[in-house]
Parts: sequence; C-alpha cells; structure tokens
Amino acid sequence: MSNALYPGSFDPVTYGHIDIIKRAARIFDTLTVGVLNNNVKSPLFSVEERVKMLQTACAGIPNVSISSWQGLLAEYARQAEVDVIIRGLRAVTDFEYELQMAQTNKKLNPKVETVFLTASLEYAYLSSSVVREVAAFGGDIGIFVPDFVAREIYLKLRPEGVSGRAEDKDTDNEQ
Ligand code: ADP
Repeated sequence: MSNALYPGSFDPVTYGHIDIIKRAARIFDTLTVGVLNNNVKSPLFSVEERVKMLQTACAGIPNVSISSWQGLLAEYARQAEVDVIIRGLRAVTDFEYELQMAQTNKKLNPKVETVFLTASLEYAYLSSSVVREVAAFGGDIGIFVPDFVAREIYLKLRPEGVSGRAEDKDTDNEQ
C-alpha cells in the first residue's frame, strides 16, 4: 500500500488543488488531504470550513480523505503513516521553497519522500490568494473555484449575501 499526504493551506480549495488531488488519487492507494492549522497566518476560512469545502469537493473520490494538522509536517507524516508527501509545482517561483521544504522534511523524517506533480497548464497561474484578491474586488471567481466555494467566499467577504451581487446589478440598472 502506498499512502500519500497532500498538505497545504487550502484557503480556499481551488480547481488547481482539485486537479492535483484527482491526479494523486490515481497514483496512490490512499490520499489524505491535510489542511494546515497555522496560528501565525490569519486565514479567510477556519480550518473546519476549509475541511468541509474539501470534503464536498472530493466527495466523489473514494480513496481521498480530508484531515487537519498543526505543527511539523514531517511529524504529521509520521503519525499519519504516509510514505509520500505530495506538493504541486506551478512555476519556478515555487521551486526554491518547495525544494528546501522537501529536503528539510527528508532530514526530519527519512522515511517520507516528497513527490511533485506539475500544475496542469490551465491552472498553472491559479492560487488561493489570487482567488481571494479577485473576489475582494468583486470579480468573477467561477472559473477558479467550484460554485459552492465561490458562494462561501462571497458570503465571507460580503456577509449581506451572495445574492447581493445579482441584486447590486439590478439596483444599478434601476438607477
Ligand atoms: P501552501 O500554503 O502550503 O502553499 P496551498 O493551499 O496554497 O498551500 O497549496 C498547497 C499545495 O498545492 C502546494 O504544493 C501548492 O504549490 C499546490 N498548488 C496550489 N495551487 C496549485 C495549482 N493551481 N496547481 C497545482 N498545484 C497547486
């Protein structure tokens, strides 16, 4: 059995993450998606919310489970009894940090290998931070994230309601 772990912030999950999850799930027997609970960052979504969105996004993939973690990734990998850590590589800008993390994790937990999956071309530009930024300015994020995630983002950013966007347009027309 080869068990893999895909760790990240997933704040929120994007089509880029989902693409990596589907591809990794085809390669490994089991895949745990690990949502990082990082007290230092102030995320848009709580860990529970991020886990829930991932559960919905991955509902149709039988060998994928969603979990959360805190602390050292190498330690989490040991506890979760995984052989492989999956990371996605989008551009050369990802590489330096990812290489350093992979080598550090190998030192801390020699049993675990980091495997990089290159981003699919159609999602290579995509990151959670871009999605949050576009949404904050009212842009259409429907091409970046599933509809149910887009709704959650707009609810978070504009608590008056998702439908606010459509209603705004109606109001604009009336003026
Ligand atoms: P982190 O805060 O750990 O970078 P993210 O949730 O942003 O967490 O990303 C988790 C992993 O998914 C990272 O390895 C990242 O490079 C990868 N990733 C993020 N977006 C994409 C994408 N569009 N295509 C492929 N991999 C991606």
